[in-house]
Order: sequence, then structure tokens, then C-alpha cells
Amino acid sequence: MVETDLHETGNTETEPTTELKQRKLVNNKTNTIKYQANGLPASNHIPATWTWKDVNWINIGFFGYLHLASLHALYLILTLQVQITTMLFAVLLTIFGLWGITAGAHRLWSHKAYKAKAPLKLILTFFNLISHQNGIWVWVLDHRVHHKYQDSNADPHNASRGLFFSHIGWLMVSERPEVDEKRKTIDMSDCINDPFVMIQKKYYWVLMPIVSMLMPTVLPFWLTGESLWNAYHVCVALRYTYSLHDTFLVNSFAHSTGMRPYDKSIKPSDHPLIAVLTLGEGWHNYHHVFPWDYKTAELGNYRYNFTTAFIDFFAKIGWAYDLKTVSDDVIQKRAERTGDGTTKYSNLKLENFNPHAHHEHNEEENLIWGWDDADMTDDAKKCARIIS
Ligand code: ZN
Ligand code: ZN
Repeated sequence: MVETDLHETGNTETEPTTELKQRKLVNNKTNTIKYQANGLPASNHIPATWTWKDVNWINIGFFGYLHLASLHALYLILTLQVQITTMLFAVLLTIFGLWGITAGAHRLWSHKAYKAKAPLKLILTFFNLISHQNGIWVWVLDHRVHHKYQDSNADPHNASRGLFFSHIGWLMVSERPEVDEKRKTIDMSDCINDPFVMIQKKYYWVLMPIVSMLMPTVLPFWLTGESLWNAYHVCVALRYTYSLHDTFLVNSFAHSTGMRPYDKSIKPSDHPLIAVLTLGEGWHNYHHVFPWDYKTAELGNYRYNFTTAFIDFFAKIGWAYDLKTVSDDVIQKRAERTGDGTTKYSNLKLENFNPHAHHEHNEEENLIWGWDDADMTDDAKKCARIIS
């Protein structure tokens, strides 16, 4: 089932005359709406619904095929028909593809959380092609919209519409018009001036099938004599399906239940297990509060954040630089002011924490897509630590 609730469609707000007015309205609502029994704040907007004419049958057919092909790949593996080297190659491709998203499209290009020299950008552009989650351009644009308008109808995978919708359902129905409206307001000048992003965008539908489908099928056949059938099902279908669900977990489970040590009024939450599975992207409450931090987490523990290890390695050899992070003091103060008091998996010692304290929000909080967003305050920039 996709979505079943029968709320009215559209926002409840009157059309704002400016972006700023709308943001104030949203934040005022966050402050005044009471917490629901499950501990989650009420949504800023009434979640939209879908009708049968919104259903994207092509995508449903594609996902259906992918999952059947993945089940067949699992059968081939469990009946010992696949070479060990083919399976190891699929694992390697999974990690490379995920880094293309986490270290590349996400932390480098969407949030500008660090800078990269040309060789690293080339590697990340290549890894990003392996992942086949749309090119960097589309990913960055939609992700910035997600951060600026999180969990509203303008968020492409609005978690207020339910777990299934935010996981995969959003790709099975047509997009809300609010999403495209807000896309037009996002500053993409940095990507326009980045040749890696623009060349990948121009040749995406030539390069991606070669890197993400042809290469993973043909290499095991050439190098180890694996059958093309096995290589395709394990290294393309199964690997791709797994990577998709891995990324989707952040949009769904890490926007539903879990700890909110830094801001209890927002849906994004911290999930250590999702952090391990997604190479460090499960610290989602922290990430939505401080989106410019290159670790996307308070902690730099590599076991829970393999992507930070990747970036730190390239920082050591000088290919990654200007790594932005947040001082412990700033994190502590924010957690004491707006967190839910949980400190598990954290350095925080919330001595002054008072769960009943008045929760003040200002309009900049939670509404920044990352470093250099026009709404990022000078104070926030001054408080950031930049590791060269
Ligand atoms: Zn993000
Ligand atoms: Zn999110």
C-alpha cells in the first residue's frame, strides 16, 4: 500500500508574500503546536495524499523487476552458483557507490561541508555514477530542497506522509507541485561553476549505464570467467537494490523514530544502526541541525561513520581541505536548549538540561541546506571550526 490517509491536499498556510514570512510562520507553528503522544511534533503542514491518477506505473514496474531480479541473485548466491570474487566485487561496488553519494553528492556537493581538489572530485564523480541515484545535479538540488523544507509538502520525500512514502513511495507517485516551486528558489551557482557536476549532468545517460551496469557485468566475466548472467544479477541488480534501500533508510526510519539529542522538535533522528549501514549518515538529527559539518555527526568514530574515514584519509594527503565542523561547546549549548536529553552515543554531558525548558527557535534553525546558504548567519559561520 502506498498512502491511505484522507487528509485534504495542500498546505494549510495562506500563500506567503516572501520566503521569510513563510519561514516565520512555519517556526511559529513548531513552537506552538503541542507534542503528540508518540513524542513527535505535529507536522507543520497537513500531509498531501495521492490519487490513482498520480501513480507512476513505469517506476512501480521498474522497482518490481529490480526486486525480482534481486531475489534471483540471492537464490544464485545461496545455491553456491556465484564465485566468491564476484560477491566481493559486488561489496566493493556497493561501498564505492555509497561513497559517491555520502562523501560526494551529499557532504561535498549538497552541503559544501568540505572542499576537494580535482583528483578527488574525479573519483567521487566516478563513484557517483556507480551508485545510479540520479546525477550529482539532481541529487544536490533535491537534497537542498529536503533540508530547507523538511517534512513539509515541498520536501520530495516528506516523512509526514508516512514511512512507506518517505522510503520508496515518493518515487511511485507524481511529485507535488510545491517541490518544483521550491526547487526554483535554491541557489545552485556553485554546481553551475563546477565542471565535474556539469559534465556528469550532460553525459549522465551515456556514462551511468557504462559505469553502473556494463562494467559490473563484464569485468567479472573477463577477469574470473564468471557467467554474464550471474555477474549481472549480483553486481548490478542486487547491489543496486541494496544501495537504494540503504539510502532510503535515511529518508524513512531516520525521519521517524529514534533519538533527538540536538533538536526534539524536528522529525530527523539519530540511528546508530542506520549510521553503520549507510557509512555514517544515520546521525540525522545532528545532521539537520548542523548540515555543514563534514562528519554529519557529533562523533568521528569511524565504525559508525566510514565516510568520515574516507574524507579524513583524503585530507591527510591534501586532496580534501577546509573540513567544516562544529565546536563541542556550540553542540552542547544547542542540545541543552532544544534537545530531548538523550546522550547515548554522544560526548554530551547535559548538566543544565531541563526537559521542561521553554524551547526557543529562531528562524534560521533547521532551514539551512549547508555552508554558504544565504540564510546561514554570520554567528553560525563564526562558531564553525574549519580544519585545513
Ligand atoms: Zn543532508
Ligand atoms: Zn533528512
